[in-house]
Amino acid sequence: MLKTAHYFDAVAESAPRTPDGACQLLVRGNRNFAKKNGVGPLSKSTRSKPQGFGLGGSDRSAGLQSPFAALLGCADARVPPEFVFSTGSNELFVVRVAGNVLGQECLGSMRYAVSHFSTTLKLLVVLAHTNCGAVTDAVDLYLEPGRYIKSATDYSVRSIEDQILVAVRAAALSLESLYGTRVAKQSAYCLRQEFRDRLPDLGVVYGVYDLASGHVRLPLSLPGQLTEEEKGLFVPPKDAAGFRQVALKICKGQLIRSLMTPARRRAS
Ligand SMILES: [Zn+2]
Repeated sequence: MLKTAHYFDAVAESAPRTPDGACQLLVRGNRNFAKKNGVGPLSKSTRSKPQGFGLGGSDRSAGLQSPFAALLGCADARVPPEFVFSTGSNELFVVRVAGNVLGQECLGSMRYAVSHFSTTLKLLVVLAHTNCGAVTDAVDLYLEPGRYIKSATDYSVRSIEDQILVAVRAAALSLESLYGTRVAKQSAYCLRQEFRDRLPDLGVVYGVYDLASGHVRLPLSLPGQLTEEEKGLFVPPKDAAGFRQVALKICKGQLIRSLMTPARRRAS
């Protein structure tokens, strides 16, 4: 019994105590991950202790869940959140669904985390990623509505596409949807609204995992020219004006402008 108590004391000491601390831990973890990305095998987190897997101490009691962040991410096989943020077991409560849309089941899981782990949970995270198949499908549907009829009878796929389409429609003029930023921002905004009575003790942030660089970021600069400003996790906008501001910032970035250049040349 004594050993188990010592273990939880140790976890409590190292676990972040504020939303800011939790966010910094994740951002640091992602930087380490990106640094090692593609260079040798990925190392396991030093925080992956046997007790973290739910294995108990000498009295064989099961360890308790004590995540410091709950994360909504895409089911994409290339984006495992624990790797992306270099976290150990029992540190992230992860909910994954294609396109990281905030449906009823996902919201229910986030609610479970917030109500059951209130002493350790400091942060809610929405993680989108580049080249997301679910988002690309929804964008294609928006551009070619005739295709919608093909998925009309497939309720399970359609329910995901319908939710992403809301973000695609809103982002149509800004091109943000290309990088999944809008979906992540929208889900984070909804989570913030859902748990507004828990703010500021509980933080809400979003980010986009860049498959090419390994960095969680905003899509502003060209590959290989990432600035410090665009790396990390971000607080979602509070209102429509805030959404427009981020959209404009992204559209003015080199990345989107580089995509627009060939079109301008063709037109001239
Ligand atoms: Zn995806």
